[in-house]
Amino acid sequence: MTVDLAERVFIGLGGNLGDRRATLESALRWMADHPCIDVVQSTPLVETEPWGVADQPRFLNAVAEIRTNLEPGPLLVALQSAERLLGRTPNGLRWGPRTIDLDILLFGTRIIETDALVVPHPCLVGRAFVLEALLSLDSELIHPVSGMPLATYLKDPLTR
Ligand code: ADP
Ligand code: MG
Repeated sequence: MTVDLAERVFIGLGGNLGDRRATLESALRWMADHPCIDVVQSTPLVETEPWGVADQPRFLNAVAEIRTNLEPGPLLVALQSAERLLGRTPNGLRWGPRTIDLDILLFGTRIIETDALVVPHPCLVGRAFVLEALLSLDSELIHPVSGMPLATYLKDPLTR
C-alpha cells in the first residue's frame, strides 16, 4: 500500500548473530509488509567492524528509507516487536551481539529526546558506515540539530 502524509524516515539495520543476511532481508520484508510502512529504498548489506564492544562477530548492516504514518513512539514499538520476532533476545549488553537491531536514525527533521527515544540517533554522526549509507540514499541530507549537511560530518571528523 502507499502511505500518505509521510515524513522521510531512515532506519538502521544491523545484526551479528545467526544468518545475518537472511535476518536483515526478513527485517526489510517485515517493514515492507507492514500496513503503515512503505520501504522506499535501501542500501546494500555491508559488513562492518563491531562497535562499542569489540570482542564479538562482525556486523552486517544496512540503512533503509521508509515512509510511515506511524508516529515515532509507535514506530519504535513496532520495530521492537520485529526485533523479537526475528529472534532477538535481551542479553543486557549495550552494543553487544544480536540477531537484529533496528534503530530510527532520522525521522523527517524531528528532534526527539525522551527516555525511550533519541532522534536523530546519537550514533549517527560518529559512525562512518551510517553516514555513508545515509548519504548514498540522499547526498543532500541535513542534520536536524546542527542544520549542517550530513556530508560535513563525513569529511571532517572534528565536527562529529
Ligand atoms: P543500541 O541500538 O543502542 O545498541 P538497543 O537496540 O538495545 O541498543 O536499544 C536500547 C534502547 O534504545 C531501546 O530500548 C530504545 O528505547 C532506545 N532508543 C533510543 N533512541 C532510539 C532510536 N533512535 N532508535 C531505536 N532505539 C532507540
Ligand atoms: Mg537498537
